[in-house]
Amino acid sequence: MNDLEQTLSIIKPDAVERNLIEDIKSIFTKNNLVIKENKKIHITKEEAAEFYKVHQSKPFYDQLCAYLSSGPIVVMILEGKDAVLKNRKLMGATDPKNADENTIRKLYGISIDKNSVHGSDSIENAKKEIKFFFLN
Ligand code: UDP
Ligand code: MG
Repeated sequence: MNDLEQTLSIIKPDAVERNLIEDIKSIFTKNNLVIKENKKIHITKEEAAEFYKVHQSKPFYDQLCAYLSSGPIVVMILEGKDAVLKNRKLMGATDPKNADENTIRKLYGISIDKNSVHGSDSIENAKKEIKFFFLN
């Protein structure tokens, strides 16, 4: 399908801290993803726990929630053709060590936890995640 989609992107604390916001945004816009909404926020650990609820049974859950709430983040709605998959491709693999050349995580990720960006993994989850940050 080539439909216009929306997806949620987050620039995580490690990348905000290193002043990478504009570099990461330019990767999206150069690849025909339009930033429809954009805000810099600092969420609580409880909010992070709610956002990452799908991972609550994983051993890294507590650390993950502590990390996402450890500093400012930038949350964005990206829109474009096949936005969900396109964003995932631009991000690269979860562990920067395994990410393809020129992906955001390969360029900027520090480690599997400090991997610079989040992106929705399906259209259904994109809708939920956009609602979580922008529609309540
Ligand atoms: N994560 C981690 N340790 C792991 C796996 C994942 O700290 O062993 C973190 C990592 O920051 C990742 C997030 O948990 O981005 C969510 O994991 P997921 O498998 O959904 O990866 P993603 O969709 O972000 O690529
Ligand atoms: Mg995921």
